[in-house]
Amino acid sequence: MIKLFLFDIEGTTTDISFVHKVLFPYSLASMEHYVLHHQTLPSVSKAIEDIRKTVWEEEQKQLGLYEVIEKLKDWITKDRKHPALKEIQGLIWDVGYAKGEFQGHLYSDVKPFFTKILSTNTAIGIYSSGSVHAQKLIFGYSTEGDLTPMISYYFDTKVGGKREKSSYEKIATETNLTPQEIHFFSDIPEELIAAKAAGMGVTQLLRAGTKSSSFEGITSFESFMDVI
Ligand SMILES: [Mg+2]
Repeated sequence: MIKLFLFDIEGTTTDISFVHKVLFPYSLASMEHYVLHHQTLPSVSKAIEDIRKTVWEEEQKQLGLYEVIEKLKDWITKDRKHPALKEIQGLIWDVGYAKGEFQGHLYSDVKPFFTKILSTNTAIGIYSSGSVHAQKLIFGYSTEGDLTPMISYYFDTKVGGKREKSSYEKIATETNLTPQEIHFFSDIPEELIAAKAAGMGVTQLLRAGTKSSSFEGITSFESFMDVI
């Protein structure tokens, strides 16, 4: 019996273009203003120092503040996953969501499916490569309202990569469930392979633009509503 439905975000609950077409451009446009006005915040000043350290190690260059900002912008366009960049981006998105500059995109079938799941006393969890903080923002300030009260668990790459079997085993351990009691939804076959190897049930989401695979695929959660 399934006790936890586990969801990927990008390509599953959320349009894959949301991060690249909304969040990244917003952080790019806001970076200079944000860093200049928040450089004395401890989390920002630490991030600035971490970037200087990385660039010194990689290029033997000592960066001034404006050069740090340029480096951050360069890393956004290259989608570099540097923790200091992620930290500052998270802070910028906090402001953007709170000001209502944008909302976390959710497909319209997500909230009805979450409601149905909870009505059967089954739990909801999220597993995404975006930080837990960023996940909570997407669901907290979403196009469907604040869905965070519906979600019991959030996992990011601190439990390991999404294509590794051990990550899914760790999620089972942390939720006190067997993998067989967890069902995972994702658009990426490699993630489904890993979750299945750990013992979870899996279903592929085939949103617009996703290629089908050997896995059972659904275009919307509606086709799952009557099954649970
Ligand atoms: Mg995905």
